Amino acid sequence: MRQAEFNEEFAVHGRRARDADAGDVRRLTILGATGSIGTSALDLVARNPSHFSVAAVTAQTNVAKLAESARASGAERAVIGDKALYGELKSALAGTSIEVAAGEEALVEAAEIPVDCTIAAIVGAAGLRPSLAAARGGWRLALANKECLVSAGDVFMREVAQSACELVPVDSEHSAAFQVLREADRGAIEKLVLTASGGPFRDWPAEKIASATRDQALKHPNWSMGAKITVDSATMMNKGLELIEALHLFPVSVDQLDMVVHPQSIVHCLVSFIDGSVLAQLADPDMRTPIALALSWPKRMAAPTKRLDLCEIGKLTFEPADELRFPAIRVAREAMKRGGTAPAVLNAANEVAVAAFLEGRIKVPDIPLVVEDTLERCEGSGLICCAEQLDDVLSCDNEARSVAIESLNGLSRL
Ligand code: NDP
Repeated sequence: MRQAEFNEEFAVHGRRARDADAGDVRRLTILGATGSIGTSALDLVARNPSHFSVAAVTAQTNVAKLAESARASGAERAVIGDKALYGELKSALAGTSIEVAAGEEALVEAAEIPVDCTIAAIVGAAGLRPSLAAARGGWRLALANKECLVSAGDVFMREVAQSACELVPVDSEHSAAFQVLREADRGAIEKLVLTASGGPFRDWPAEKIASATRDQALKHPNWSMGAKITVDSATMMNKGLELIEALHLFPVSVDQLDMVVHPQSIVHCLVSFIDGSVLAQLADPDMRTPIALALSWPKRMAAPTKRLDLCEIGKLTFEPADELRFPAIRVAREAMKRGGTAPAVLNAANEVAVAAFLEGRIKVPDIPLVVEDTLERCEGSGLICCAEQLDDVLSCDNEARSVAIESLNGLSRL
């Protein structure tokens, strides 16, 4: 599904969600339960024990936190992605009736358990297969894992349409757009503008960014998030990924998508219409607001977030993004325009480069350099093409990672 089916999909989502009784207990699976989004989701679940039950929680390596989350939420199943950790998880959950499983296939199987809503909060393209498995189930998908739309947006949205899955975005900007567009005349949209905080280096000169440390990159001014997305915010690649995510989620073209830097992170998205009106959504920067919306839509559930006090905030400011200091925005836009598997290559190369940065092997400006070089190499070797099937995307992702490693190794020559 893309823009054409959007209106109808929206109508179906609203109808189905309205059919659910407000008193219903919603059964959830949380993929990536030990992460920042997973923890926020579990916090909402813990505050509303009579409204939610948990079918499964998953993680990759964090056994202690997964076991604790499974016990606290009363989950039926706990799954650890790293197979070698099966025994450790089994011991940690000894004496409970929680079923234990491990490995990549077990993550997909957990995603296939029928529930009312799956929260897809695995980080990176690793989340693609489990998120897609949940989408195929046809129930609600609260999608935080933006990389799966960046890598495989067309394939993913086709499956969403086929299963009539109720996709509600969790990314704050897309949650904002989802709400704003709900009542809108979609044919009258002129622009959809995502806001960006600008990250920790927003007002740093290029030379200072070039020597920024890992700790400095991980110090986001407004949001508390996992390491990968925090680095993406520092390079502003995150906003590029989000533009591609928005292209798949909303009825807009590449030319109708834009971004603006808004350091306070209060306004999350602006939609302008042909009559000059602009609609926006505002909230304190706390992911529990969009997660709560995804869990309760079209109703709203209480979230324990700070209430917005505009007088206390005083000033909301906006400025253009500086694509010279943050070239990742341009690189991502070009991949979005190129289409086909270019965004999958972009995402794979970015994951490789961010991991290298977090390991202390490269500097911040090397990240977009590696991504752009990988895109050029892949274009040259014919890897950028149309992807009809999931396997095409997965093999492209795989090859692009090898190319990105070559690019990293030859970094001094770039
Ligand atoms: P975190 O790094 O905090 O958590 C990631 C989760 O995924 C953890 O549970 C982790 O398990 C699990 N995981 C990591 N690698 C794998 C793997 N290879 N296979 C299966 N599971 C894996 O990430 P965030 O919560 O910050 O982000 C999750 C997703 O949500 C990302 O796509 C991000 O872009 C998106 N998002 C996040 C926002 C935020 O505020 N954090 C805002 C908007 C979007 P373990 O703990 O064992 O490593």
